Amino acid sequence: MSQYEDRHSLPYAKQMDQNDVLNKYRSQFHFPMQTDGTPYVYMCGNSLGLQPKSTSSFVLQELTDWQNLGVEGHFHAKNPWLPYHEFLTDAMARVVGGKSNEVVVMNTLSVNLHLMMVSFYRPLGKRNKIVIEADAFPSDRYAVRSQIRFHGLDPDECLIQLKARPGEVCLRSEDIEEVIESNGDTISLIMLGNTNYYTGQYFNMKQITQWGHAKGCFVGFDCAHGAGNIPLDLHDSGCDFAVWCNYKYLNSGPGGMGGAFVHERHLNDQSIPRFEGWWGHNKETRFKMRDGFDPIRTAESWQLSNPPILAMASVWSSLKMFDQAGIQQLRTKSISLTGYLEFLVKSLGDNKVHIITPSEIDKRGSQLSIQVKNANKELYNRITKDGVIADWREPDVIRVAPVPMYNSYEDVYNFYTILKNALEDNS
Ligand SMILES: *Cc1c(COP(=O)(O)O)cnc(C)c1O
Repeated sequence: MSQYEDRHSLPYAKQMDQNDVLNKYRSQFHFPMQTDGTPYVYMCGNSLGLQPKSTSSFVLQELTDWQNLGVEGHFHAKNPWLPYHEFLTDAMARVVGGKSNEVVVMNTLSVNLHLMMVSFYRPLGKRNKIVIEADAFPSDRYAVRSQIRFHGLDPDECLIQLKARPGEVCLRSEDIEEVIESNGDTISLIMLGNTNYYTGQYFNMKQITQWGHAKGCFVGFDCAHGAGNIPLDLHDSGCDFAVWCNYKYLNSGPGGMGGAFVHERHLNDQSIPRFEGWWGHNKETRFKMRDGFDPIRTAESWQLSNPPILAMASVWSSLKMFDQAGIQQLRTKSISLTGYLEFLVKSLGDNKVHIITPSEIDKRGSQLSIQVKNANKELYNRITKDGVIADWREPDVIRVAPVPMYNSYEDVYNFYTILKNALEDNS
C-alpha cells in the first residue's frame, strides 16, 4: 500500500478496494445508472438500500408457486407460505442481536411502533410520560403523540424531549441520564431512535436501558438507522422492545417489511396488553378458530395478519447476503470506509464543511451528516448532476452513508472529488 501514500488519490482508493474482502458483493447489486451509462455514486443506502440481483428470483419463486398451486401454496410451495416468516427469523435475529424467540419480521416500522406502544406505554397515574429526542423522526413523533392522546392525555404535558445543549447538535449521555434521573418517577416509556436519522449519532442502548429500568420505566428503540448498519445487541442491552425497517441498510425494497423485537422476559406474560390477530395465536390451534386468544410464546404473538409473502421474499434474499457477508465483517469495513470519508471531507477545511456526526467510532455507524457553510440546495443539485445520489436536509446538511455491503473506497473518493469541485465553484 505504501506506493500510494497519498490517501487523496484514486489509486489509493482502488488499492483499498482490491484489499477489501467484501468487495465482491458490489457486483451483486443493481446500481442506478446515469445517462452516459456510468453508475451513480450511490451514498443513500441509509434511505433506500439498493436492490440485490438475487431479489427478483426470490419474488418470482413465490409468484410461480402461486400460479401453479393457488391456495395449496400455503403448504406445498417450495417455501410454504404458512410458516414463511419463520424462514427469516434466525438471520434477522443475528442482524439485530436478538434471540430467535424475540424477533419477528412483520408489518412496517410505524405500525410496529404503535403495536409495541400498546404493550409498553401504559400510563398509570403520574407515571404517564414518554421521553423522545427533540429531533426525533417526524413519524415517530406523530406515533408517540397520538398514543398519548389515545390514553386521554395531553402530549404537550406528557412528552419529554431530549435536547442538545445550546450550540451543540448531538446529545450528551450525561444529559440523557440526568433527564431520566430527575423525571424517572413520571416516565412510563423511553423511546429513542437508534441511530438518530439526522445526526447519525448512535446511543449506548445498554446504558440507557439500565438508567430507565432503575427508575421503573420501559425502554424501547427505533432502530431504523441502526439495523444492518451497526451490529445491534438488543437482547444483551436488556431493552424491552425495538422496531426497525428493512429497506434502508437492509435492502429489502421500497416500503419493505419491518421487524420487531420483544425481550424474552415479556414473552410469557399473559396479561400484557396487546392488539391481537390470528397470526399471533398458538399455531397448533390457530385454524380451529376458537374464541380465546392463546398467544404464541414468542415475539410472533404480536403478528396480526397472514403476512405479504412477496414483500417477505425480498427481505429474505437480503438477509441471506447479510448472513454470508457477516454483520461483524460489514462493521469492520464500515468503520474503515466511513473513516476514509471523514478523512477526505475534513481535508476540505473547517471553513467549508463541518461534520455534525460524532467522531467517536462507537457513537456512529456508516452515516456522516455534513453541514456545508453558506450552502443551499443548489449545491446538492450540483453534486446530483455530477453523479452523486445522497440526501439533503434543509437548511444545509448533506447526509451520506457509504454502505459496506456495496459501496467502494472509489465511491467515497469520487464523492469527495465531486463535492470538492462543487465547493470550489461555489466560493
Ligand atoms: C425511516 C424511518 C421511519 C419510516 O417509517 P415507515 O413506517 O417505515 O414509513 C420511521 N422512523 C425513523 C426513525 C426512520 O428512520
